[in-house]
Amino acid sequence: MRSKLIIANWKLNGNWSFNEEFASALSQGLKGIDLNDRQIVICPPSIFLQQLGGLIIDQAIYLGGQDLSEELSGPFTGEISGAMLKEFGCRFVIVGHSERRSRHAETNELVVKKAIKAIAAGLTPVVCIGETLEQRQGGQMESVLATQIDALLSGVDQLMNQVVIAYEPIWAIGTGQTADAAMAEEVHSWIRERVSKFSPAVAQNLQIVYGGSVKSDNAEELIKMSNIDGLLVGGASLDASQFLKICQAS
Ligand code: PEP
Repeated sequence: MRSKLIIANWKLNGNWSFNEEFASALSQGLKGIDLNDRQIVICPPSIFLQQLGGLIIDQAIYLGGQDLSEELSGPFTGEISGAMLKEFGCRFVIVGHSERRSRHAETNELVVKKAIKAIAAGLTPVVCIGETLEQRQGGQMESVLATQIDALLSGVDQLMNQVVIAYEPIWAIGTGQTADAAMAEEVHSWIRERVSKFSPAVAQNLQIVYGGSVKSDNAEELIKMSNIDGLLVGGASLDASQFLKICQAS
């Protein structure tokens, strides 16, 4: 059975005292909760990884990066490698978030390179895919997702069993507009079907998480869907009590 993954993407948020308060509220709130069937991942700005690593001691809470370089080392100002994230305690890294695809012109090719570098560094890449509203309304959703998935399958190939896919419809990110549970389940099931043409075994074990305006009041209905294996949470992950409810809902 696939376990559930709840991922907090803090984006460009957090500071020393906020992180302390959040970590303490999370550790307190999760006391006595059976986390056996789920993993919780906090992805803060990388400069705070060390601080959070010292604060979060629960076995079921992991750290993740928000991005990594496709390079290993060298003259790449501002970049952070997979090995560096690993050294700072990360187990996961978000790759190809739509904000990076749009603001930093990340292509499918680059996203695949980053996913491969993440795996080589011992990290699990959480590869984001998703369509814009125009693409959905224009009937191109499946072809956009298929291109993103197929690039991943052919590039990552035999290592696909080490990848998590995050389906994040771009029109739902940070907008308060969520794909409802049935709508999200339909797409997740379609993604699994697509991956199953590559390998039924990989598809069966693949964790596909949903992201896009997940809040404490819609987390439950989303996560109980059979093809939704977790949630990638942006805005609501900055509110410890709301994030805790999301972790519990699952
Ligand atoms: C995200 O950025 O991955 C995300 C899902 O954000 P939000 O939950 O704020 O829509």
